[in-house]
Amino acid sequence: MSGFDFDLFVIGGGSGGVRAARLAAQRGARVALAEARGLEGLGGTCVTLGCIPKKLYHYAAHYAHGFDEARGYGWHVDPPRLDWATLKRRRAAEIARLNGVYERLLQGSGVTVLHGWARLADPHTVELHTPRPDGSTGTQRWRAERILIATGGTPHVPHFQGREHVITSDQVFDLEPFPQRLLVVGGGYIACEFASIFLGLGARVTQLYRGEQILRGFDDEVRHFLADEMRKKGLDLRLATSVVAVRRAADGLHAVLDDGGHVVADAILYATGRVPNVHGLGLEALGVAQGAQGAIVVDDHFCTNVPSVYAVGDVVARAALTPVALAEAMAVVDHLFGPAPGQSARKARYDLIPTAVFTLPSVGTVGLTEAQARAEGRRLRIYRSAFKPLRHTLSGHDERALVKLVVDDASDRVLGLHMVGPDAGEIVQGFAVALRCGATKAQFDATLGIHPTLAEEFVTMREPVTTG
Ligand code: FAD
Repeated sequence: MSGFDFDLFVIGGGSGGVRAARLAAQRGARVALAEARGLEGLGGTCVTLGCIPKKLYHYAAHYAHGFDEARGYGWHVDPPRLDWATLKRRRAAEIARLNGVYERLLQGSGVTVLHGWARLADPHTVELHTPRPDGSTGTQRWRAERILIATGGTPHVPHFQGREHVITSDQVFDLEPFPQRLLVVGGGYIACEFASIFLGLGARVTQLYRGEQILRGFDDEVRHFLADEMRKKGLDLRLATSVVAVRRAADGLHAVLDDGGHVVADAILYATGRVPNVHGLGLEALGVAQGAQGAIVVDDHFCTNVPSVYAVGDVVARAALTPVALAEAMAVVDHLFGPAPGQSARKARYDLIPTAVFTLPSVGTVGLTEAQARAEGRRLRIYRSAFKPLRHTLSGHDERALVKLVVDDASDRVLGLHMVGPDAGEIVQGFAVALRCGATKAQFDATLGIHPTLAEEFVTMREPVTTG
């Protein structure tokens, strides 16, 4: 025997931790996984407080426009009314079902699932603090040949007067009562998504962002286009504006702004970034190297500077997305326990990560923005089309869609593909395969469209709007 209780001890039952634990166990390793939130936490942020509940609320919000659009198609629709309690209850039931699916997947693979807050006592020992029914805490120690940290991230709220009155995405799903007036602070994808969701659900929403435009890092045209579309839907979007203080009054929460104005709201959601979840893990005592905001520093095999300690997912802060955490988990398992029979070891790649922003309308993107491609000094051809989708010819809505291709003039390769419009994530996922295969504009041109669809615009744009 090795003298270890486990070959691999995974800390964190989120996207990265569950995938790594399952795959390692399937390769014959003795694996334990500790999740601080117990069975209710299995699946991690994505399942319990992120992608999945967010997407369910996005669907809920999208009906508001659907009812309205239906009138243009001849339907008589009584004024619809949202039952917020029903939506919350049904979401919670679905998340509980998914937690159970994750539990069965882990147990079916032979992973020992432990409930508790874990910290590293030494390079091979995990100390697990488990809450007991009587309110006390039990402590156990486990020895493992390797330890994988997959503790994810946590919302970051800056310091200001009245900070205790605001909430983060962790609390937004169960807000009580429904906020008729919501203030969203932040300009990233999570802020934009919740602004859009609550707007659709019927709240009056103000979104404040201190920068000059929302969605920093996305293509500039996409950013401006989306901001215009969200404003058309009724969002009060204020840029280059910050909150200096929040105070509670009889008529609601008052946010005092740096431009001298103020906003009164029933709830204030701060979506101002996330930081790696490293607090209390014992990393400093062990000498595990950390970078900006505490992110764990790892090499190409996700090994830290302590040879038995590995880390994947949001806690290494390379790209905080579920598919990236999954890819990193698969790469670390292939490295430690060998690839699946007949396959070669997988590596995590960070180029061409397709992403969507589930706003209304939504954003889909893969590859380089125009600004990124220009920064590489390339000569480019830009193809762009902005138009009213066929659906809205009868719906009566003035929503528009944007499709854009960034093409390298010398090689004809499509470097970036961007879209604002319905189902952008679904559409861009397919094109991401083409970009991964190195598709050229000539190959896009040689592809027949599916008519009539919005996505056919990507293969029917013939003349560049800009060359150079
Ligand atoms: P997590 O999923 O965060 O899991 C970490 C787990 O570790 C948690 O369950 C936590 O309880 C546990 N833990 C922490 N510390 C300890 C400890 N000391 N001991 C034991 N357990 C511990 N990504 C997408 O790809 N698409 C989306 O649409 C999307 N939407 C999102 C929306 C929101 C509101 C948020 C917040 C995130 C969203 N994300 C989305 C990001 C995605 O959820 C994360 O990238 C992903 O969950 C990261 O997985 P992870 O395994 O690194 O960490």
